[in-house]
Amino acid sequence: MLKSLSIGQIAEITNGQKFGESEKNLIAQIAIDSRQIIHPSQSLFVALKGAKADGHSFIPSLVDLGVGNLLVHFDYVIPEELKSKAVFLKVDDTRKALQKIAAFQRSQFEKPVVSITGSNGKTIVKEWLGQILSQKFHVAKSPKSYNSQVGVPLSIFGIEEDHQVAILEAGVSKSGEMDALAEMIRPNLGIFTNIGTAHQEGFESLEQKILEKLKLFKNSDFLIYCRDQKSLAPIIERNFREEMLIGWSDQAGADFTRSVKLLEKGAKIIFVKSDLNTYTFQVPFSDPASIENITHAIIAALTLGQAAESIQKGIDHLKSIDMRLTLKSGINDSLLIDDTYNNDLAGLKVALDFMQQQRPKKRKILILSDLLQQGSPERIYAAVSELIQSYQLDLIIGVGTEIAVLEKGFSGKFENYSSSEKLLESLDPERFSNDLILITGARPFGFERVVNRLQQRIHGTTLEINLNALTHNFNFYKKQLKPKTKVMVMVKAFAYGGGAVEIANHLQTMGADYLAVAFTDEGVILRKHGISLPIMVLNPLEETIELCSEFDLEPVVFSPEFYKTVQSFCEANGKSISIHLDLDTGMHRLGFEENQLDELKQLISNGNKIQVASVYTHLVGADEEIHRDFSLEQLERFKRMKSELEGILPEKTLFHALNSAGIVAFPEFQFDMVRLGIGLYGVEVTGKYGTSLRSISTLKTTISQIKELPAGETVGYSRKGMLKDGGKIGTLSIGYADGYDRRFSNGKGYVLIQGKKAPVIGNVCMDMCMVDVTGLDVKAGDEAIIYGEGISLKELADRIGTIPYELLTNISTRVKRIYYLD
Ligand SMILES: *Cc1c(COP(=O)(O)O)cnc(C)c1O
Repeated sequence: MLKSLSIGQIAEITNGQKFGESEKNLIAQIAIDSRQIIHPSQSLFVALKGAKADGHSFIPSLVDLGVGNLLVHFDYVIPEELKSKAVFLKVDDTRKALQKIAAFQRSQFEKPVVSITGSNGKTIVKEWLGQILSQKFHVAKSPKSYNSQVGVPLSIFGIEEDHQVAILEAGVSKSGEMDALAEMIRPNLGIFTNIGTAHQEGFESLEQKILEKLKLFKNSDFLIYCRDQKSLAPIIERNFREEMLIGWSDQAGADFTRSVKLLEKGAKIIFVKSDLNTYTFQVPFSDPASIENITHAIIAALTLGQAAESIQKGIDHLKSIDMRLTLKSGINDSLLIDDTYNNDLAGLKVALDFMQQQRPKKRKILILSDLLQQGSPERIYAAVSELIQSYQLDLIIGVGTEIAVLEKGFSGKFENYSSSEKLLESLDPERFSNDLILITGARPFGFERVVNRLQQRIHGTTLEINLNALTHNFNFYKKQLKPKTKVMVMVKAFAYGGGAVEIANHLQTMGADYLAVAFTDEGVILRKHGISLPIMVLNPLEETIELCSEFDLEPVVFSPEFYKTVQSFCEANGKSISIHLDLDTGMHRLGFEENQLDELKQLISNGNKIQVASVYTHLVGADEEIHRDFSLEQLERFKRMKSELEGILPEKTLFHALNSAGIVAFPEFQFDMVRLGIGLYGVEVTGKYGTSLRSISTLKTTISQIKELPAGETVGYSRKGMLKDGGKIGTLSIGYADGYDRRFSNGKGYVLIQGKKAPVIGNVCMDMCMVDVTGLDVKAGDEAIIYGEGISLKELADRIGTIPYELLTNISTRVKRIYYLD
């Protein structure tokens, strides 16, 4: 942080009311997450009310830890016993207060601030510009995509005195949000990447969305934009002074006129500036999106006065890389966090936090390279050793020459290798078993080789799951609920294909209240992997009651006979069990009918070893308007049955009826809990909030071979695929055994290759299928998207007359799941 502040100064900045004796320590760190506090006595904890948790609930334990300063909401009642132990600042709105402190810190920074907004490419442009500028400057930049109302303040707190330029990303999703960001960031130089239609729902029109984003630059000196973007450029040109605009275009007459020449590998970009100076750069990629992104980064670097040779040197260090944080299966049951494109402290912290959230493994290991940040190594590694203290690492493997100094600051086991080559020479994968390993290194260290050595072989097809999108969807449903309503998440059928253990673990950190699986063994697997949330089992078979009891799983009881079976088990074994009651209000699958209620009441009164944790029913047509009346009948019947049972059940018994569609369609029937399924996985089945959810998974495969075929040849089994005029086909490594439905055969399905549609040709085989790539510039090894962003599950399901649920759950377990934060 730029400037340490006394609590009195913070009170002034935030207009807060102070309670308690002032601490003498100045505040050097501001945290919103209790796990991230490094020096309690010099920290200010800001309690935010989020969708998943209320920061105020951590206050007692934080004060115990020694945190001396807390910023809280004015209606927070300070516990008597804490009053003498810490200083409390009360404000109307803690989030606004956090933003005011950030605005103050920003005002202390006199060097240039670059800010980036737009629909796509923000994070990439920020990362690339950061890399390029680091050739010349000491750069601060937002970690990952910290671009929101809370992310931006945290990014600003990351700016230090010796930084020479700061790059901050800004993202808004609805009208009215940019003012607060603009107030904090006050960029000198702006970049507007582009405008897309994504996240349109928070705005009335495209123009309104553009104008909202443009508020960021109202007091900037310069704004870089692409004049060829027809929906964007005229609006920018109408709203800003000509002197501040730096437009680039592929047509003559712009401030920077660009021409792009594609090369064998990569591309050459030539700029002619309006003063007729010419600049030529060679870049390592050739796809239009990357070229657009690097264009923005180059023009920004030129504007900040960086010389062309130095910019080119920065570009040479880039690659068209995967900059996400990914969770992968490692050898011997280890779990790898792949962060091979990280070169700064802020990114390291994000990765360590992610590591902290994973389920427990035998050891926590960090493989870390020299950070290659500008600035003095003593300072950098002092900060690293401070940071790692709170993460209980068992072993650090440092790679590089500077990182050796870390040994002094780390109490655990430390090994040092002077280069990645040296590490690879002696890296025996068998050293690792059931470990959690974070691999994080600066680009030039090429740590993907280390990841390769330690990961389970991944061939062809992968299902990539975006944990941020999962959080987004979870929060979307949370927002539909009353604050008290609990959420049970359905992780049956391998979490709808997404991988039950990792998803359950993520849900645990997000604050889900309950999980549900279909069968007992699914629950047992979750328990064996350390999942501790309560788990309901929808369809426990009689012979698994003992397992339920052993693993603390809560069976659904759906008939008098089953009730008695559970009861006899409890009596015979001296155990007691929590169960859930399924009431049949019209589904006619499992459950007690209304006319069995008396019998059920009798059973409840006699079964003193059985605790009824919850009572629920399931709607048959919540997603379809035509069944609305029937759903309401079901809900009314449930209410009737509920009132019959209430008298004999304990007060805390939870009642619930709504699935994902029900949450959207019948908000007045939330009762105590809802059961979220398909919506979490990105499909909003009622269609009412079609664009509010994010797609959480992408199914990808690779092209194994390309063939040019003459006219009249056929493709695949039974000669079903016909190339009348000849053409080119690509063979993909996915077939029906992986879950690529055979009904996609013969043009019913298509995949995306380089963003273009390639229809399936011929019959889908067991492990492979062929697609028509005539006219596409593709080669073996290229990636094909089966579904994800750009191909919706809903559309695919419609094409073959099924529902998204079936497509999701059909993906075979032999397809590797990879989890990432974007
Ligand atoms: C699967 C299931 C759900 C979840 O349904 P979605 O439509 O996926 O939200 C809820 N309740 C029960 C009993 C289920 O079996």
